[in-house]
Amino acid sequence: MGNALPIERLLHAGVRHAIGWRSGAFAELHAGAMAQYDQASPAQARARSLRLLRHVVFRAYHHVPHYHQVLTERRLTPRDVRDFDDLRLLPLLGRDDIRRAGSALHAGGRSRIGARKDATGGSTGTPVEFLRSVTQAAAIIANEDRTWRWYGVAPGARQALIWGADRDVPPTEDALRWPNRLLGIRRLNAFALDDDRCAIFAGQLNDFQPEIIYGYATALHRFAQWTQANPGRLRISPLAIRSSAEVLLPEARASIEAAFGGPVFDYYGARDCGPIAGECRARDGMHVYTDVTWVEIVRDDGSPCAPGEVGEVVITKLLEHAMPLIRYRTGDRAAWHTGEQPCSCGLTLPRMTQLAGRVGDFVVTPKGASVHGEYFTHLFYHAAGVARFQVRQVAADRLRILVEPSPGQVPAAELLAYVQQASADKFGAGPDAVTVELVRQIVPGATGKHRFVLPLGATAAEPLAWMPQ
Ligand SMILES: [Zn+2]
Repeated sequence: MGNALPIERLLHAGVRHAIGWRSGAFAELHAGAMAQYDQASPAQARARSLRLLRHVVFRAYHHVPHYHQVLTERRLTPRDVRDFDDLRLLPLLGRDDIRRAGSALHAGGRSRIGARKDATGGSTGTPVEFLRSVTQAAAIIANEDRTWRWYGVAPGARQALIWGADRDVPPTEDALRWPNRLLGIRRLNAFALDDDRCAIFAGQLNDFQPEIIYGYATALHRFAQWTQANPGRLRISPLAIRSSAEVLLPEARASIEAAFGGPVFDYYGARDCGPIAGECRARDGMHVYTDVTWVEIVRDDGSPCAPGEVGEVVITKLLEHAMPLIRYRTGDRAAWHTGEQPCSCGLTLPRMTQLAGRVGDFVVTPKGASVHGEYFTHLFYHAAGVARFQVRQVAADRLRILVEPSPGQVPAAELLAYVQQASADKFGAGPDAVTVELVRQIVPGATGKHRFVLPLGATAAEPLAWMPQ
């Protein structure tokens, strides 16, 4: 815990137990198991994950009407799931399936005691409701500590959360404001940051001196840009910064590191899925938390992707028995890491690459082919001077590409010409079908998350016009 006193640590543990005494107590148990798991050999780790997986299927079959029906219809029993590959005997579960199944996805009996209702944020379309069991809630707490420990940060460090959206802060968080303060967690809303708010925000961070900071990539990045334009205003030295929930481009990472003065680590998790993967100190891919969440990456036809091949991330929650999610489609696109060698950090947990966007983030060419967002992400991947970009399909045969430069920079004309030509070639509607525009700011959507590609029909605010310096 950095420089915290023993009394602060005690207080921290006490408050954590008081606000969710069961999750708090279970978190301690999980923390021990996770520490062991991180040290285990790959064979031992696999064996434990498989035990958890078979247990989830067993309990789902016996206690959850939806899964009882799914297995019965396929003439399966939990015994047929002997290995990870056997999971593919079960169908994928989409958000629509969850809505249709309703309470048939809830476990009967004791599995639901203490479970809480939650819902996904609005950025993924209609919110989906789900239950979170005490065990899963505890695993989330323990997994946070585990990940920070990977960076040498002990539990209980002062944390600043920087979020970009009002909507994604559930009402229950308000009730936790004071407990959070006691826990050393400060929540700062970075939505619609203008210069005045940035200055206030910097002051709050200077007073609070967070040891760790986390938030949406976009929110972190926007604040970082203000900091770089106003040098000397932010005076903190965090041990680690964690970016989550969005694609993190190298330019954004570098800008956040320069502004905050600490290393940035990417993290992947979602409210409906729980923790999925996180970067270690080596920052060469994200390690999957395979004792909490089992991950598959699948092609459009449902078959498994080879390493390096981008597909949809499908998860199975290994510790959720109140409302099991087995082979749940996240809508996120990513790939398995191609490295043959184990990670230099010493962890043997499998690695996946950074997110490559969302399943719905693609444009459709006039000939009917889909071009996924990652095509454009690659065009911009090492582009100097670009803070962010957005590809908007504005008609069946027209693309509009917005480019927002980093503060004080103007991307090279060659880069813009290259993006225009490569995109036009890929889109196949003639050289003039794609326009590339410099803009002052791409206005974020209501959730504060940035989307790289807006498909045809998506609504979006007009960007702020470019003003040549
Ligand atoms: Zn590693």
